[in-house]
Amino acid sequence: MTGSGHSFTPTAVSDGVLLRPGGLTAIRSVDAAAGTVTVEAGCPLSVLNAELLARGLSLANMGDIQVQTVAGATQTGTHGTGRDVGGMAAQIAGLELVLADGCIVNCSVDSPSGGLSLPGATGLFDAARVGLGALGIVTAVTFSVVPAFLLEAREEPMTWSRVISELDELTSDNEHFEFYWFPYSEGCLTKRNNRSDGPARPVPRWRYWLDDEFLTNTVFNATNQLGRRVPAVIPTVNSLAARALGSRTYIDAAYRVFTSPRRVRFKEQEYAVPRAALSDVLAEVKAVIQRRDWRISFPIEVRVTPSDNLWLSTAYGRDSAYIAFHVFHPSPHEAYFTEVEAIMTAVGGRPHWGKMHTRDAEYLARGYPKFGDFVALRNAVDPDRRFGNPYLTQVLGS
Ligand SMILES: Cc1cc2nc3c(=O)[nH]c(=O)nc-3n(C[C@H](O)[C@H](O)[C@H](O)COP(=O)(O)OP(=O)(O)OC[C@H]3O[C@@H](n4cnc5c(N)ncnc54)[C@H](O)[C@@H]3O)c2cc1C
Repeated sequence: MTGSGHSFTPTAVSDGVLLRPGGLTAIRSVDAAAGTVTVEAGCPLSVLNAELLARGLSLANMGDIQVQTVAGATQTGTHGTGRDVGGMAAQIAGLELVLADGCIVNCSVDSPSGGLSLPGATGLFDAARVGLGALGIVTAVTFSVVPAFLLEAREEPMTWSRVISELDELTSDNEHFEFYWFPYSEGCLTKRNNRSDGPARPVPRWRYWLDDEFLTNTVFNATNQLGRRVPAVIPTVNSLAARALGSRTYIDAAYRVFTSPRRVRFKEQEYAVPRAALSDVLAEVKAVIQRRDWRISFPIEVRVTPSDNLWLSTAYGRDSAYIAFHVFHPSPHEAYFTEVEAIMTAVGGRPHWGKMHTRDAEYLARGYPKFGDFVALRNAVDPDRRFGNPYLTQVLGS
């Protein structure tokens, strides 16, 4: 089963039958009193966000973009940044699944097995929320939602040394903190998003066009093209970009603050590391980038989430920090991704299921306490691997 095809790993790639969710996009029901919405698996997040806002509701947290489907985003553990609220799958209250034998189960907090009487079935809800498409086809997702809220976004350049020395306060004093570091420079762009009583003060249309479309996409695409032709200019361009970034503050509906258009194509690797290891890991990343001649033109993105209890969530059982490495899509990534991946795995890092990595089942079994239970459940519900593909063989075993 595929979503919108926005994963960088071949997690949705099949050499057999590939199902697309274009006919499965309805919002089935909204229960404002219970704070839940049930939406079909292929509904794009952008549609869900707009429909929720129209009803005075919102997801509590989300990632950087809103083009993914609800099932695709949650099956790989898509996350944003947050002090109190975890990734998107942690906001799921119920799932409707079609299993390999064709039966339909509804599992939820109150009915974790969905009435299934197979070995390990009581773990179905905790396993299937980040299920990598391995346990069955999600047909509908019920999210816990909150009353619509405004976020005040404060974007501000800061030096690397200040961000690192104030990291604990920045992540604990703000509901949503993240930052981007521009390689070969001391410059970071920090983003602090906190709830606001309003009134809304969105980015003016001209400024949105200038910052979010023109600079972030059009100019960034042009500088990446230039960097690809003349790699020697990249450190200068990064330093200029880091210095050119201005501060801005605006207040808008939560999802319009969490998400923005990303039109420059890239390749990405992202690891979750224990939150306590973040400063040390970042120092190592910075040192290795200074030592090598990789000419990285994309900033490195750093986010945090609280721990959760979803078996294959990258935040399972530990407060986590996420470090994301990007390269422009035609540029080589191998040396860069390999070396930073070694830094991540040395501290027990867990790769994002939808972003490039080289980990296999043996490594992942050591990093996820419930890995064995997940595999046992998969063996019970899909013994013939109806939902199998080469990526699942790599990460879960045959
Ligand atoms: C520009 C860009 C920005 C991104 N930003 C973020 C971010 O901020 N945070 C983050 O964590 N990730 C981010 N990602 C990664 C992205 O959120 C994930 O890769 C996500 O899984 C993509 O969703 P999709 O709908 O495209 O699913 P696909 O990539 O099509 O599928 C993903 C997985 O879900 C399974 N699946 C899909 N639908 C179903 C279903 N109905 N039932 C069962 N299994 C199903 C597929 O089999 C596959 O295993 C970003 C990716 C891009 C390209």
